[in-house]
Amino acid sequence: MSASNPTPEPLIEGPHDPEHDPRATYVLEPSHVTRLTDRVLATTGRTLPLTSPLDGAPLAHMPQSSAEDVEEAFRRARIAQAAWAKTPLEVRTAALLRLHDIVLDRLPEILDLITLESGKARKHAYDEVVHVALTARYYARTAHQHLDSRRAPGVIPGLTRVDHHRIPKGVVGIISPWNYPLTMAVSDGLPALLAGNAVVTKPDAQTMLTALLGAEMIEQAGFPRDLWVVVAGPGRELGTPIIERSDYICFTGSTATGKLIARQCAERLIGCSLELGGKNPMLVLRDADVDKAAEGAVRAAFSNGGQLCVSVERMFVADQVYDRFVERFVARTEAMTLGAGLDWEIDMGTLISQDQVDTAVAHVEDAVSKGARVLAGGKARPDLAPYFFEPTILEGVTPDMTCFGTETFGPVVSLYRFHDEADAIARANDGEYGLNASIYSQDGRRARELAQQVKCGTVNINEGFAAAFGSVDSPMGGMRESGMGRRQGAEGIHRYTESQTVATQRGITLGQNFGMGAEMHAKLMTASLRVLKKLGRA
Ligand code: NAD
Repeated sequence: MSASNPTPEPLIEGPHDPEHDPRATYVLEPSHVTRLTDRVLATTGRTLPLTSPLDGAPLAHMPQSSAEDVEEAFRRARIAQAAWAKTPLEVRTAALLRLHDIVLDRLPEILDLITLESGKARKHAYDEVVHVALTARYYARTAHQHLDSRRAPGVIPGLTRVDHHRIPKGVVGIISPWNYPLTMAVSDGLPALLAGNAVVTKPDAQTMLTALLGAEMIEQAGFPRDLWVVVAGPGRELGTPIIERSDYICFTGSTATGKLIARQCAERLIGCSLELGGKNPMLVLRDADVDKAAEGAVRAAFSNGGQLCVSVERMFVADQVYDRFVERFVARTEAMTLGAGLDWEIDMGTLISQDQVDTAVAHVEDAVSKGARVLAGGKARPDLAPYFFEPTILEGVTPDMTCFGTETFGPVVSLYRFHDEADAIARANDGEYGLNASIYSQDGRRARELAQQVKCGTVNINEGFAAAFGSVDSPMGGMRESGMGRRQGAEGIHRYTESQTVATQRGITLGQNFGMGAEMHAKLMTASLRVLKKLGRA
């Protein structure tokens, strides 16, 4: 259990050969695909074909699980968890640190698979690996800080001893989306394992192979196989059986699904964390470094084709810099290298599905038909890949247009001019979401003051999203309809534990002592309360 397993054969046959079409040089080896699909706990005999958004080529036939398979997954996970909860913390932290090394050692293979399966640019696939490594290292290095039992002051100083323990919840259900298929499937589960839980996970159907590669690497790092059980199938079929058996649910996906899940968790009185959608604003203040802001805006709006929960879809730009900013932002967007392939030079890859293209097309067509102007992009590009949509900048978007307040979850951003910072903050806070915001200014102190007026769980200054997202010691998550609970930091691991307080009373009892009457006891207590306050006790 404590040692790592040998590195399996690489999934994808190389070598990289730039002379050839990169899609042709990376062929998924059928036996290796089977190695991954065999990890799904599925007995239905049904499979779902998986194809690559790069070119529509078949990737795998994914076995599909039933409600009975979910039941079996929890049975196995519960047995594994009972043993795992007894392992020393050192065994668990060592496995996390090995996982850190494994994801870096297997980097090319992981990037190939993420790109083949999701269509994103390789550089955006790389962000996922970095996030898994950061999360694994952070929780391994802070395990004692978050999980050790600690002594706390008791009600009668010196006579009441209090021990506060963190007990694992048991089996955590993780339901994850397709947009960051490695890190969304893996990173939330790492603190759960560290805290002594098992995980049953249902990744999104479109990106199962990457999630299964994550499961393979978790086992390779030394975590027992049944501690991380993967089931596959539609969320609307498997969601309820998972929630019915979980001790806690970690969900990442749309706000609509998040609300359904919250209701079911409430029915069972189990906790859940919900990382949901956003309509994230960026503010470019009058003193912003315009070049820096334009460079950041491209990454903030078009990373992973805008299919990113913390992606910026609304930009509020101060009058004084509006024209200069727009000119640079449009120029940088038009200079992006678009493409569908596995090489590092691509700045934006394809969207993942026709549904995603349909939403982007619908939002842009609706806006244009009502008077918005397209400053860059605006079109689907089937010549590049079946689901390609250009990075698109809109101006003149008004509240009657769908993309004004509805998340596109694609590469479409709207620009708005502002005169007054208070007005810009009010507009940024408009709507129901509150996930992430960005402020560009050369006055850090003022930007930090303004940040506290923004109703978002993370605010990045002079960066779009990565500064907060990558700072894994601090919590990340949404206010309002963007979610409940937080990933990362202390909150990201404590959500998977139950707090237990054990209080040992010594010497006198907490009732009346020494034959004292109730009135005398109350007088003594009142006097001691006054003394404790005077002494500065908490
Ligand atoms: P989605 O809610 O449709 O699906 C997400 C996951 O939930 C998938 O695994 C899916 O199978 C499952 N699911 C679907 N219906 C379910 C049900 N009834 N019960 C249980 N599970 C169910 O989301 P999507 O549209 O695929 O993903 C995009 C959305 O996710 C966007 O709104 C985006 O903003 C959000 N997202 C948020 C974050 C974040 O960290 N806040 C990260 C990524 C994506």
